[in-house]
Amino acid sequence: MRLMRAVYGNAANGWLRQARYKPEMALNKELIEILACPKCKGALSLRPDESAFDCPVCQLAYKVLDDIPNFIVEEAEPMPQIQKEVRG
Ligand SMILES: [Zn+2]
Repeated sequence: MRLMRAVYGNAANGWLRQARYKPEMALNKELIEILACPKCKGALSLRPDESAFDCPVCQLAYKVLDDIPNFIVEEAEPMPQIQKEVRG
C-alpha cells in the first residue's frame, strides 16, 4: 500500500512537470485532442501510424503529410468500408 501511495504521489508531481516539459513529438496528444473534423466538428481519431486522421461520422480520412494534417474537406479521402466490418 505504501508503494501505491508513492506511485500516485509521483504521478501527481509528474503532471506538474509535464505542463512545462514539451516532448519532441511531431503530433502531441494535447494538440490531437483539440483537433476536430472541419466538416462535422466531431472528434477525430489519429491512426496508429499517424498517417491520417479519421472522422467516423463523415467517413473521411484527413491525410497527414510531413507531420502536417490536411483538414481540407475536399482533399480528404473516403474511409475504406473494410474498416467498419473489421471492427465488429
Ligand atoms: Zn466529420
